[in-house]
Amino acid sequence: MTSQRGIPAPMKHLRHTVIRAGLEALYFSGAHMLLRPIFAGVGAIFMLHHVRPWRGGEFRPNHHLEVTPEFLRAMLTHLRSRDIDIISIDEAYHRLIAGDFARRFACFTFDDGYRDNRDFALPVLREFDAPFTLYVTSDFAEGSGRLWWIALELAVSKATAIEAVIGGVPTRLETASLAAKQAAFDRLHDWLRGLAEHDLRREVAALCARHGVDDAAICRDLCMSWDELKPLACDPLVTVGAHSITHCRLARQREEIASRELALGRARIEEMLRCPVLHLAYPYGDRSAAGQREFALARAAGYKTAVTTRPGMVFAENADHLTALPRVSLNGHYQEARILPVLTSGAATAMWNGFRRIDAA
Ligand SMILES: [Zn+2]
Repeated sequence: MTSQRGIPAPMKHLRHTVIRAGLEALYFSGAHMLLRPIFAGVGAIFMLHHVRPWRGGEFRPNHHLEVTPEFLRAMLTHLRSRDIDIISIDEAYHRLIAGDFARRFACFTFDDGYRDNRDFALPVLREFDAPFTLYVTSDFAEGSGRLWWIALELAVSKATAIEAVIGGVPTRLETASLAAKQAAFDRLHDWLRGLAEHDLRREVAALCARHGVDDAAICRDLCMSWDELKPLACDPLVTVGAHSITHCRLARQREEIASRELALGRARIEEMLRCPVLHLAYPYGDRSAAGQREFALARAAGYKTAVTTRPGMVFAENADHLTALPRVSLNGHYQEARILPVLTSGAATAMWNGFRRIDAA
């Protein structure tokens, strides 16, 4: 799961509107064609979460974390039509250290280990013989993890009002209408995201208890168990990477805790799936979750690469920052086919980065 960089709720909606307008402007102006040679880099690492058919329903606050199988197919078709190599993250690593940029590449990466990746993404990826990486959170595979953003969605979805002590102030949020639910979700999400890990868990557990949400079941409902992951780990298309033990914001943890999340998360996957784990995705992956200290810890833990959620194409210079790789989010907000060439041109991520090429500081 990724976060949205500490932006207040109303700003988030504005931001999506601005990004959408930006993507549209790039497309209709043809500017993405002009920017391609400068910002397309040597390749892209695409980031996905859920892949599943559109489920309908009006209240979908986590919609940005899902795309449809059709959108994934459209992207794969687009990449093939542009003769871009679809390669594993390990092959990307080798091309980066060898400086082998004769052909542009794309990697597909999926965070958290959702079962829909197997049920809906894998068949599409197989059609294209496209390798991909699954970043597994070991507590999610264990069935003991907490996907608090889903728990919050379920609680707000069920409730007609939610009471919480936000910043020391007892607060009552109406959640009867769709608009009220959306506003309450954003408010609660921003509040919870700012809490320390144990406070976050306690508050979400209390919310779930009050509103009849089975917090513990969410992980088992959505994420693959070790037994489900085993056949995937043996699939030649699949690379299994690590995504920490508990899915915490590493940068907010004491160094020994962060280091343990990286080292033991990996060891646990290797023990359960009997495959080497050499690649990492930082949970949340933005600046508040992964910075210089985490980039060094990932190197020290022996990862060959580590991906963030900082937006960007991969450039030759990223060979010097292999544990701070940027990604391009394929998400539910922007699923129109005409956006595809804009995303692969690098113009979109360049726009988000203020036209910097490398962001590894
Ligand atoms: Zn995640």
